[in-house]
Amino acid sequence: PAPVLTIDGPSGSGKGTISRLVARRLGWHYLDSGALYRAVGVAAGWGDIDLADPAALVRCTFDTEVSFREQGEDLHVLVNGSDATLELRTETAGAAASAIAAIPEVRAALKDRQRAFRQPPGLVADGRDMGTVIFPDAPYKVFLTASAEERAERRYNQLKDKGVSVTLAGLLREILARDARDASRAVAPLRPADDAVRIDTTGIGIDEVVERVLALLPA
Ligand code: C5P
Repeated sequence: PAPVLTIDGPSGSGKGTISRLVARRLGWHYLDSGALYRAVGVAAGWGDIDLADPAALVRCTFDTEVSFREQGEDLHVLVNGSDATLELRTETAGAAASAIAAIPEVRAALKDRQRAFRQPPGLVADGRDMGTVIFPDAPYKVFLTASAEERAERRYNQLKDKGVSVTLAGLLREILARDARDASRAVAPLRPADDAVRIDTTGIGIDEVVERVLALLPA
């Protein structure tokens, strides 16, 4: 099978940015697994589906079509054919994704869709359980961390650049709440794979992290 580099970690650890840059440098495919959960969250919102109704959310998962399209520097996400790239990044979508991701049947339904991204010449898979559940046999695994304050600040700058109106304090609160939920949930709690290399990105520039990740692969 094609090689896989898994990059897991909490939201705002820099996973998305790092994974995409590394994928580009390697010329490998890129899987943003969080976008799949967020897409189902957004679709559930469009369909007025109750986030407390697991059966309806499982149906919504099967009914939701997600596709990715590279457009210059940007990766666009289409949900049921509509460009939902911006909506996907909101904290509302993140919170919905996190609630949906706690449903075992949803995770199971998304498993094969994620594994289908493993194509030659290779895949960089970004998420929370890439190295533990989806690609446990991946030859290269990274777990990225960063302080909650720094993660909130990064998300703040990202959203501000996109014209989304948020406050830093609000984002920090949401990130801490989501961390707690993601770490304590019974289903797929966030934890590094035993064989993952941990990199703390607090105070480290993007380029430096990219180099450290690339250094794990044979030249
Ligand atoms: O990484 P991102 O913030 O986009 O993920 C949104 C939510 O989806 C996370 O809070 C997490 O609960 C869930 N998720 C997951 N497993 C993944 C990716 C995301 O449970 N592989």
